[in-house]
Parts: sequence; structure tokens; C-alpha cells
Amino acid sequence: METLGKRISENRKAKNIKQDELAEMLLVSPQAVSKWENDISCPDISLLPKLSEILGISVDELLSGKKEPETKFVPEEKRKDIKDMKIIVCHLGNGSSISAVKYGESIDTSMGLTPLEGVPMGTRSGDIDPAILEFLAKKEDMDIFQLVNVLNKKSGVFGVSGGLSSDFRDLENAAKDGDDKAQLARDVFTYNVAKYVGAYAAAMNGVDAIAFTAGVGENDGLVRKDVIARLGFLGIELDEEANGKRGFDNIISTADSKVTVCVIPTNEELAIARETLALVK
Ligand code: AMP
Repeated sequence: METLGKRISENRKAKNIKQDELAEMLLVSPQAVSKWENDISCPDISLLPKLSEILGISVDELLSGKKEPETKFVPEEKRKDIKDMKIIVCHLGNGSSISAVKYGESIDTSMGLTPLEGVPMGTRSGDIDPAILEFLAKKEDMDIFQLVNVLNKKSGVFGVSGGLSSDFRDLENAAKDGDDKAQLARDVFTYNVAKYVGAYAAAMNGVDAIAFTAGVGENDGLVRKDVIARLGFLGIELDEEANGKRGFDNIISTADSKVTVCVIPTNEELAIARETLALVK
């Protein structure tokens, strides 16, 4: 796998810069550069702008190996500034959240004080009637800590599937073999994701694009298809062939679709690095 260390090393060599010369330019020890290049440690984030300048590659490219992250496969004419758009982001993984991003700002998100609120997840319940706590406490003789543990660790698709699995691949396989609870778990999930998308389209008074991301959002074409099928009223049309592909940024709606639907692989490390860089700059 190509690593940050490898990218530093290759680009340094391509520029004919020795390890100790790079160290001198960055005011660090030659041992530090050697450790970076061997992936034993990483450069301090405040050094990245200078490092990218010396190596002649962008910070994005240095961190992710991509020249233009998150836009590579989106044709030029389809690219719009997010400041002009209403976008709903469906981050569907083991933990899932939906966010409404209006003109470049997140105005609502499905998680709350803790990640428990929102759509059902791998093992988290998502939204429930608060009175369930009292009902279960009496029925199962549980204290609040046991109840919250159940809501976090034994609920969601894992719970609905009867404790079968929190992994959507297992659920899909079991559903194919006729397991009704596994199918129900997938249906409860896609129903709730579509419900949040509908709510956020109302909250923003419209939606221009829906983005799917994270383990399930990126890889599970059937989940995407089922969610989109519940959103026909928004004028969304799915491009089945595009929806069958994975592993890169892609538009999966047809050219006639009223809402653009895309798949964007998550890059949480890059997002964290960018936020941190903005803070320390
Ligand atoms: P994340 O929390 O974003 O890492 O997502 C992890 C979850 O993504 C796993 O528990 C699976 O449910 C799901 N997932 C990963 N790969 C696939 C796949 N190829 N097809 C369907 N679901 C997948």
C-alpha cells in the first residue's frame, strides 16, 4: 500500500534532495525524516505546507495520493460549487448519520448529544420513543446503564435481525436465503434513511444532490437502490449500471434525474488532517 512515508520518500528522490537536506530545510533532525519515510512516525501537521512546497506536490496529494480528491470521476459540466447547492449526505456505515448541507453549511444532522439518535445503525437503535426506557426497565428489570448498553450495542439492524449480524453483507446473504428478520432489518434501515432524506429535503426546501458514503453507502448498491426507490417522488432516477460500480467517486443518477445522486468514498483521515491544518495555520 502506498503510504505517506513512501510518497515523501519517492518525491524527495525525484527532486534529488537528500534526507539530511530535507531535514535541514524543515528544521528537523535527519532521523525524523528517516522515521517518516519508514512509516515509524508522521511529520508534524504544521510542517505539511512547507513539505508540500519543497516536494512540489499539494498537501492533498501528499496525504491521500490523490491529485483532485472527491472530483476525479465527476465530469466538469456536472461540477457545481457546494455554496450554490442543497445537499443531503448519507454516511451509512456501522455508525450512520444523515446531514443536511445548505449552501456549504451543515444545518442539521441526525445524530444528537450522542451518536445514538437518528437512523438505526449496525447495533445502535437510532430514534426511539423515550418512554421505551421506562417500559423496558419494568419489563426486563434493567437499570439505566443496562438499557443504554442495549440501545448502543444490541439494537439497530443487529437487534432487528434477531442478533444475526450488524454487517450488511451478512444480512443480504441471509435475506437471499429467505431469512425474514434479516430482510426486515434491511428494510427498517432503508425506510429510515429515506425518511430522513425526505425530512431534510423539506428542511432545506429542496435538494440538489444526495451523497452516499462510508462502508454501506459506498459498497452496498442494493441499499442505495432501495433508498432511492423510496424517493421517487423527488424525481430521482437511478442509473443501475453506475450504481453497480464501486471504489471511486461516481454519479449514480441518470442525466434526467431531478436530483444528482453520487457515491463518494469516505476519507476521514484527510478530513481530520484538513481541519487540523486549518486550526494550526
Ligand atoms: P464503516 O463503519 O464505514 O467502516 O462501515 C462498516 C460496515 O460497512 C460493515 O459493517 C458492513 O456492514 C458494511 N460494508 C462493508 N463492505 C461492504 C460491502 N462490500 N457490501 C455491503 N456492506 C459492506
